[in-house]
Amino acid sequence: MSVVTRFAPSPTGRLHMGHAFSAIRAHDVARERNGRFLLRIEDIDGTRSRPEHVATIVDDLRWLGLTWDGEVVFQSARLSNYAAALEQLREMRLLYRCYCTRAEIAEALSAPHGAVAVYPGTCRHSPARDAPHCWRLDMAAALARCGDLSWTDHGRVVANEALAQGDVVLARKDAPASYHLAVTVDDAAQGVTDVVRGRDLFEVTHVHRVVQALLGLPVPRYWHHELLVGADGERLAKRHGAPTLAALREAGVDGREVAARLRAGVV
Ligand code: GLU
Repeated sequence: MSVVTRFAPSPTGRLHMGHAFSAIRAHDVARERNGRFLLRIEDIDGTRSRPEHVATIVDDLRWLGLTWDGEVVFQSARLSNYAAALEQLREMRLLYRCYCTRAEIAEALSAPHGAVAVYPGTCRHSPARDAPHCWRLDMAAALARCGDLSWTDHGRVVANEALAQGDVVLARKDAPASYHLAVTVDDAAQGVTDVVRGRDLFEVTHVHRVVQALLGLPVPRYWHHELLVGADGERLAKRHGAPTLAALREAGVDGREVAARLRAGVV
């Protein structure tokens, strides 16, 4: 089976060096194996996504010398696919409406009985009412249905510990799908065989594995890479004042040289 990878940025801001690193890794894995590299714009968050960021992302990737195969896919054009997946899970009675506000959840989490960083299940048995709500996955029920799950990361088998993520949101109050649902549905729909992305998404991959099992989707191989750090060992992010790719490009820096340095591990 030929390799298919993807870069899936959210157009909520400008790309920085960490994004470039990730895009290059995913691109090279495909190119080295004669596979396909896809570009997917994760723009389901209608309030934070901006078309001008999409144009900048495209320019940034070209500047780095990266090419992708086929048309760019926009998640905002695929909402009916996420709705169908949600419906499937709802029919399995694995979703429930959650009416909690952010403030209520924060308050529940700061309660002095055990520091659980996951949603405490407040609405799990609430009667349905006419109020804004998101849809959460009843994780314990989902896992009871799936049985033991595993996936591979860098070829090593990882046992599933999705329970630790709690009852994650699969459809938001303000958006018809959450990242977890859309990314899982799309990786399968686009035939992605190898997911190459940052280590910061390792934990939530457990959730994605459960969603794949519930929806009967194929399981890609995962290759979570370490996050790019600066000379001081700190993660490179905007808060450290690192320039965006667009700023470097506009300052006349050669993007292919930047890409070559990143490939050589020199930040
Ligand atoms: N859209 C996600 C982000 O920009 C990445 C999705 C993924 O690679 O799974 O952080």
